[in-house]
Amino acid sequence: MRILVVEDDATLSAQLESGLKDAGYAVDTAKDGETGHFLGDTEPYDAVVLDLGLPVLDGITVLTRWRSDGRTMPVLILTARDRWREKVAGFDAGADDYLTKPFQMEELLARVRALIRRAAGHASPVIEIGEIAIDTRASRVTRGGDTVKLTAHEYKLIAYLAHERDRVVSRTELTEHIYDQDFDLDSNTIEVFIGRLRRKLGSDVIETVRGLGYRLSVPAATPDKKA
Ligand code: CA
Repeated sequence: MRILVVEDDATLSAQLESGLKDAGYAVDTAKDGETGHFLGDTEPYDAVVLDLGLPVLDGITVLTRWRSDGRTMPVLILTARDRWREKVAGFDAGADDYLTKPFQMEELLARVRALIRRAAGHASPVIEIGEIAIDTRASRVTRGGDTVKLTAHEYKLIAYLAHERDRVVSRTELTEHIYDQDFDLDSNTIEVFIGRLRRKLGSDVIETVRGLGYRLSVPAATPDKKA
């Protein structure tokens, strides 16, 4: 999952970036409204954290432009305390959620998780595909109740496929949603990660749809060891 943070306060921006990266997201940042608007207009983000008080172009204008151009990604706005009118204007401009500064990183992460899973049509934080469970709160994957150790990038890939579970996802789309702008990408990287995930989770978990991409499939249950 890839997140855009638009925040002009350098300290807060750095905190948001590291908190979100630690939680397993790819993160791009913008320090003014114009840059933020451009990125949100041209890159496919899974969620945006948008400060409202921004230089060059204010947050409400940025959001209004995205929505009038048909950008539907979930947007969480950051507002100053005691600015209820800002919240109303933000929701009317197309915001999905808000936080008042100062806030706890844990709360921001919980809200971002909820926005992303709702946007993908999941009500529960745990996505189950057959005997595989992906717990988006703990970034943890289990098969038949046993934890499967995954690297950060392997988790990002399986989590994206799980959120989009009923669709075939192309390699380009995967690349765009699991890496930030600065990642130096090798064209085979996705295939390498898919191979590793199949080894760790079972070869039947990720289906290759020739010429189109990948899709999660419900794996057959592991044979009962006692039988
Ligand atoms: Ca600001």
